[in-house]
Amino acid sequence: MFNDNDTLTTKKAHRGIDQIRADFPILQTTVYGHPLVYLDNAATTQKPNVVLKAMDDYYKIYNSNIHRGVHYLSQKATDAFEVARRRVQEYINAKHEHEIIFTKGTTEAINLVASSFGKRYVKPGDTIMISELEHHSNIIPWQLMCEDRGASLKVIPINEKGELKMEAFDALLDETVKLVAVSFVSNTLGTVNPVKEIIEKAHARNIPVMLDAAQAIQHVGIDVQFLDVDFLAFSGHKMYGPTGVGVLYGKESLLNEMPPYQGGGEMIKTVSFEKSTYNVLPFKFEAGTPNVAEVIGLEVAINYINSIGLDFIREREQQLITYALGQLQEIDELRFIGEAAERAASISFLVGDTHPFDVGELLDKQGIAVRTGHHCTEPLMNIFKIPGTVRASFAFYNTEEEIDKLVKGVKKAAVLLG
Ligand code: PLP
Repeated sequence: MFNDNDTLTTKKAHRGIDQIRADFPILQTTVYGHPLVYLDNAATTQKPNVVLKAMDDYYKIYNSNIHRGVHYLSQKATDAFEVARRRVQEYINAKHEHEIIFTKGTTEAINLVASSFGKRYVKPGDTIMISELEHHSNIIPWQLMCEDRGASLKVIPINEKGELKMEAFDALLDETVKLVAVSFVSNTLGTVNPVKEIIEKAHARNIPVMLDAAQAIQHVGIDVQFLDVDFLAFSGHKMYGPTGVGVLYGKESLLNEMPPYQGGGEMIKTVSFEKSTYNVLPFKFEAGTPNVAEVIGLEVAINYINSIGLDFIREREQQLITYALGQLQEIDELRFIGEAAERAASISFLVGDTHPFDVGELLDKQGIAVRTGHHCTEPLMNIFKIPGTVRASFAFYNTEEEIDKLVKGVKKAAVLLG
């Protein structure tokens, strides 16, 4: 659906769930005497042994700075770093490897575009279009840039199910819009947005589109050429890789036109006190020593995802979501927040009049990790007129047995909290 390249998504996991779980050492942990039930995967995913080992190996065997040394270790580290760039390129099917910019996460990738694209293309009176579903990371950078450039935000509204109102999107799309920046999947509601349609409609007016793929990259195959998306941002730690690394994909033609985001080593060609010139892509946007171990860890995380298979992951997570929705809706006091027809691996809910923190705390005492609060989507919480939600978010290593424990825990919380 999101990918026209069948070869990316046809692999299957040929191993049992116990074998898959054994790849993740943290899943053997106990919390307050209970086996850990980790249902906070939208905040960050757990890391398989292969990722941990790859980062350890870098520090133990070939730790060195990259791109600058002629010595053996530096070349080995540089090679590993650049292999990672190619792996990301393949994973999202980018046309050129220099369209892959390593950042420290989705947030930095969005800030980079907001700042650099803003300086190059945004003038007073222009607008940037986002949606009511956005994470703060896809609101604030645009707000900051708009303040700076004398521009303003347009916001696509949602319906009561938590889906974008596409007729409103059509009406808002006018000649003032310089960029549309929306999430692929909502981190709070799990809504999968109609991104292909958004891109096609925006492009019909020559407006570029940036996708925040922080909650999509680990669940669905993304083919940037098929989508024809202009910018895409995601984080390594949400796709079984380390924290401190993320990716900005950008079309070469746009990135080439945009000024550097940060200054420093690596991003320059020549430096003098009078005038400096800048390096070519991707280095123009990678100032300073990058997170080498984390980039290498991300490469191994992608290999791991490919070995499990995105098809398998999508199918398994849909089974888990369907099972969880079915079980949770049996609880009388429970109210779902967000019921989009198309959704990825997160479920948000409230239990009667109880505060989400109280439910979260009681679940925690039973070893069940869920997230409670506004999930960095305060405007969305205001629209639903709620202080926050309890969010259970799944990964392919979760089990129906863990969902049963969640359901039992929520029932217990409903009784205890009245
Ligand atoms: N966008 C979405 C939809 C997210 O869910 C998150 C993190 O939860 C972010 C952006 C920010 O990601 P990071 O903190 O890794 O930069």
